[in-house]
Amino acid sequence: MELAATSSQIQSIISIIFSLSAGACAGSFINATAMRTAADKKWWGGERSSCDKCGVILRAPDLVPILSFIFLRGKCRYCKEPISRRHFAAEIISAVGTAALYVRWGLSPALALSLAVFWFSLFNSLTDIEIGYIYDVWAVALGALGILMRIPAGVPAILDGVIGGAVGFCFIALIILVSRGGMGWGDAMLMLGIGGAVGWRYSALSLYFGFMVGGVIVLPLMLMKKLKRKDAIPLGPFLAAGSVIVLFLGNALVRRFGYFLGSSPGWPWG
Ligand SMILES: [Zn+2]
Repeated sequence: MELAATSSQIQSIISIIFSLSAGACAGSFINATAMRTAADKKWWGGERSSCDKCGVILRAPDLVPILSFIFLRGKCRYCKEPISRRHFAAEIISAVGTAALYVRWGLSPALALSLAVFWFSLFNSLTDIEIGYIYDVWAVALGALGILMRIPAGVPAILDGVIGGAVGFCFIALIILVSRGGMGWGDAMLMLGIGGAVGWRYSALSLYFGFMVGGVIVLPLMLMKKLKRKDAIPLGPFLAAGSVIVLFLGNALVRRFGYFLGSSPGWPWG
């Protein structure tokens, strides 16, 4: 009896370590592709990773996600210049988020959909932070993938995704048309993609949390005069953060506000 409990504990520890490593590798790949996309370089085929500063082609021991940065103490092995912390941050965020989503959903369609939302949102946030631009094709790709993943669950699940995309897109579009500034069409496309993947209930909740997180971070900076109203603040990362929060809290909220949102079969298919 005791032995059985121990072996299942070992099993869950192994799967958490596995999801942390898979998340770190995904984060490393997503960050590299996002930076290459933003720099207008191609990221498929032959181009090898090199140091941003000295241009030396990096070898396998320099490219282990998270660990290389720690063992090299954040410096290039060859030129000793500091390595951008953004690589490291993207790997850590992806590792922790991937493992947390695995714990939240277990091996299930909900996990697959959650990881698609999380990883694509990370990519779109990174290009938004780097060059202030969300690529339509990468935003729409998430929505298309989400709808494809909904097909086996039937027509209501597909419709839920289509309406989710429309809710996300139209809400941001309305803000753009009313306020003329602040938000861009990249943000609307981002919510089209997220909404298509998560469905209409989670899409509405993602908008709510996205604006909450944005308000909590941006308003104090404006009050402290670190930011002016005209400064271009990338808003994509806040919307992305909102959607990731909802991947964890959404079901509890939909249950609580069920009378308002209509009865739901439970995420991801409603
Ligand atoms: Zn270097």
